[in-house]
Amino acid sequence: MTAQQPQPAVVAPRPRKVPRIVILGGGYVGFYTALRLRRRLGRREAAIVVVDPRSYMTYQPFLPEAAAGSLEPRHVVVSHRQVLRGVDVLNGRVTGVRHADRTVRIAPEYGDEYEITYDHLVVALGSVSRTLPIPGLAEQGIGFKHVEEAIALRNHVLARLDAAASTWDHDVRRRLLTFTFVGGGFAGVEALAEVEDLARSAVRGGRYEGVRPEDLRFVLIEGSTRILPELGEEMGGYALEQLRRRGIEVHLATFLSSCVDGHVVTSTGVEFDSATIVWTAGVQANPVLAETDLPLDDGGRVRALPTLQVATADGEVVEGVWAAGDCAAVPDLTNPGHLCSPSAQHAVRQARHLGDNLARYLRGADVRPYRHAHVGTVASLGLGKGVAQVYGVKVRGWIAWFLHRTYHLAQMPTLDRKVRIVLDWTLALFFPREMVALGRLHDPRATFVEAAASTAARAPGRGPTPDGRGGAGGAGGTGSVEGARAA
Ligand SMILES: Cc1cc2nc3c(=O)[nH]c(=O)nc-3n(C[C@H](O)[C@H](O)[C@H](O)COP(=O)(O)OP(=O)(O)OC[C@H]3O[C@@H](n4cnc5c(N)ncnc54)[C@H](O)[C@@H]3O)c2cc1C
Repeated sequence: MTAQQPQPAVVAPRPRKVPRIVILGGGYVGFYTALRLRRRLGRREAAIVVVDPRSYMTYQPFLPEAAAGSLEPRHVVVSHRQVLRGVDVLNGRVTGVRHADRTVRIAPEYGDEYEITYDHLVVALGSVSRTLPIPGLAEQGIGFKHVEEAIALRNHVLARLDAAASTWDHDVRRRLLTFTFVGGGFAGVEALAEVEDLARSAVRGGRYEGVRPEDLRFVLIEGSTRILPELGEEMGGYALEQLRRRGIEVHLATFLSSCVDGHVVTSTGVEFDSATIVWTAGVQANPVLAETDLPLDDGGRVRALPTLQVATADGEVVEGVWAAGDCAAVPDLTNPGHLCSPSAQHAVRQARHLGDNLARYLRGADVRPYRHAHVGTVASLGLGKGVAQVYGVKVRGWIAWFLHRTYHLAQMPTLDRKVRIVLDWTLALFFPREMVALGRLHDPRATFVEAAASTAARAPGRGPTPDGRGGAGGAGGTGSVEGARAA
């Protein structure tokens, strides 16, 4: 921090009767750690605080279904305040940590930055999209990590179909109907497959004038020589074949070179225009970790021991700090020399383990190492289609898709969310998907601002309009300053 910057207000450390555990991030790890700690420790044993700018935990594996309209987006998130009983929730962005004096700096959405102190810190800040300085990407790209992005993608795709059905210009239509996804990992393939399903079923039956299913062009760009590497060569190959059979263009060993104004250029020289570019090319540790005095590895993740305690490069425990999930470099004891992969599978288990270890530590018991052998992977390739490899057993097609749904349903926190999800799926059996593009949702004030601007233009002196009804109020309204005063 430079000397010129205003100092954040410090919430003075009070002598505490019970230790305060501050959890940074309320995603998978933060949410499950808080639940576990609250279950293990009474209120007189520990105070628990979760800090996150979002007031909910997102079940990310359901984001592709939320983007496809198979699930209501609100049903794939879980409210912190509703579920984390006995936990203090602070909505704000962590902007730094000084472990030397056990202080966290927080920027709330409204008001000045402030600091809070802790006795134990749990770092659960997850990852962010790994982007590259590709010309046009920052302006054109849509990420796919948050529920807001899933909602925006669905509205964006449906709005492109509306626009394509409303133009006679072939080039414009072609551009509107070309959807590009970059990154052939889980998030990219599942999002692409679900959105392609949505778009094709939307245009079937001539709902969009002049737009036929074969006019849609879906393109996947992947830098390596295969997709879904987590599934192994055989099942990844099966998924690739399925996508190609559906007419999806998959460019392997190819990189996005540029996408200025939606003009896509690849490293292999392929060029086309695309009004939709979804970036799902991997994740990197949360960059805010660089604003802490915690030990980081070369990938910018917090160094952790298998006990999930943060440690220096020499393996010396940094007392009072714990870390897990995508933001932590945790050795994989089942695969010596490797780190646990950034996955929900590890995040949930590490969170519970961390909660147990921290509770044991506070009670003076020994902490235990985390060990989990990867169970397998399930992926959806759209409605009724999937691919999976669980305990070495390879499954494909409808059964894999069913496995995917039942596994994630079982993992989804709270009975309330599970029931809502089952109801969404059940309703989808009897009614077609919702096809309304609520694109204007993303700029809700636009029409009001337009109306206010036209009123101001018509009545610069705020006097009555030529029809004598007054500036802003309209018939019978009291929206004008004069009207309000008169009232
Ligand atoms: C589309 C998609 C599909 C996936 N599917 C699967 C799957 O099928 N199987 C699987 O195993 N894994 C899957 N994953 C990966 C899995 O979801 C992640 O590995 C998991 O969410 C990691 O948990 P986490 O707690 O470390 O991070 P997250 O769950 O991302 O939580 C991080 C939290 O930190 C908060 N945060 C960020 N910055 C700050 C800040 N500065 N201050 C305060 N809070 C902050 C965020 O708001 C968020 O709530 C998928 C991921 C995506 C995006």
